[in-house]
Amino acid sequence: MNKIIKALLDDNKPETGQKACEDNWDLSELIPIPKFPVKCPFCGSRKMLIRNVTAHQRIDSPTKWRVIVSFKCTICSHITTHGVVVTKDYVDKMSSHHPDGVPNFSHRQLRQMFGFEEQHEEQK
Ligand SMILES: [Zn+2]
Repeated sequence: MNKIIKALLDDNKPETGQKACEDNWDLSELIPIPKFPVKCPFCGSRKMLIRNVTAHQRIDSPTKWRVIVSFKCTICSHITTHGVVVTKDYVDKMSSHHPDGVPNFSHRQLRQMFGFEEQHEEQK
């Protein structure tokens, strides 16, 4: 078998993935917060903003719940995505803070939830 295909389809053990997420993400907040510096892999900038945060259920995985955290580089616009293993309780906690009861937050919703005031006028 092609070595690259074999490596890309390697099966990560559930406990390994879960531990990596617990080690690298702060799950004490409403959304996963990276414990590592967020840096653009394309241009190297550290001016990355959370773009959106969305939880979903993986049907075919032993670790069923993920929070997808996307960051956008303010310099080159590259978008990165991380899939953080969480528990159902974590997803339920996220949902309980959303006005529509769903575990999905946009950048603007998060700014509002964390108490930032809007700095920009809406474009018309
Ligand atoms: Zn960049």
